[in-house]
Amino acid sequence: AIEARGVHKSFGTLEVLKGVDLTVRPGEVTAILGPSGSGKSTLLRTLNHLEKVDSGVVRVDGELVGYRLRGRRLHELKPREILRQRSQIGFVFQNFNLFPHLTVLENVVEAPLSAQKRNRAEVEREARELLERVGVGDKAHDYPRRLSGGQQQRVAIARALALRPKVILFDEPTSALDPELVGEVLEVIRQLARDGATLVIVTHEVGFAREVADSVVFMDGGLVVEQGSPAAVFDNPVHERTKTFLSHVL
Ligand code: ATP
Ligand code: MG
Repeated sequence: AIEARGVHKSFGTLEVLKGVDLTVRPGEVTAILGPSGSGKSTLLRTLNHLEKVDSGVVRVDGELVGYRLRGRRLHELKPREILRQRSQIGFVFQNFNLFPHLTVLENVVEAPLSAQKRNRAEVEREARELLERVGVGDKAHDYPRRLSGGQQQRVAIARALALRPKVILFDEPTSALDPELVGEVLEVIRQLARDGATLVIVTHEVGFAREVADSVVFMDGGLVVEQGSPAAVFDNPVHERTKTFLSHVL
């Protein structure tokens, strides 16, 4: 499970997260929606310490993210420990972020080898299985630029899975794709959800969120305004801001 409590984050004088509480239960899919600039990406990044919080805490399975408690004060973890901790959480970005100078297979095995110090033969075998599972098994020795956007994003998902993460965070995984490639990526995510993975997905795909999410979070102005089942949030939103947002996207 992920628990964020009272998370605040500012960039200079701009307060982007204003005390966010979020609970992600194991085995569930949590979809995060909200207008541009509401803090969705920043929140996702705080969940694995890609952004440091100004105050508040994030825990993954009870373990503090980025810090440890010494006496009554929080001390930031050492870079090595942060990397180890981060490798428990997969991250799939809008723009794939594959390493361009590495082949598809090398992209997938990199972190399990370097951050998790796992055995190369085992990691490669697992990577090939994962590439098969997301439908790009024949691309293992190609460079990312040779692949379509949908294929690159499926490699990025295989790369995230290779960490054997407790949870995978997706930041608008289909918004950089040509429309005809969106479906193949959503299908891979849908299959992960069916297999019981814990997923957090920032998305504008309302239809997909309604179908796949167990929990829908609506963010606005740096706060979680509303969280509930898809039926509750989409069909019976309580807050005015949720209603206004949905009236524009539905
Ligand atoms: P979108 O739907 O457009 O992706 P978002 O909800 O993901 O929006 P964030 O990317 O979290 O929004 O950004 C929230 C605000 O924080 C924006 O005003 C953005 O410009 C600002 N911001 C984000 N990252 C930084 C940064 N590293 N430095 C300065 N400002 C930032
Ligand atoms: Mg964003």
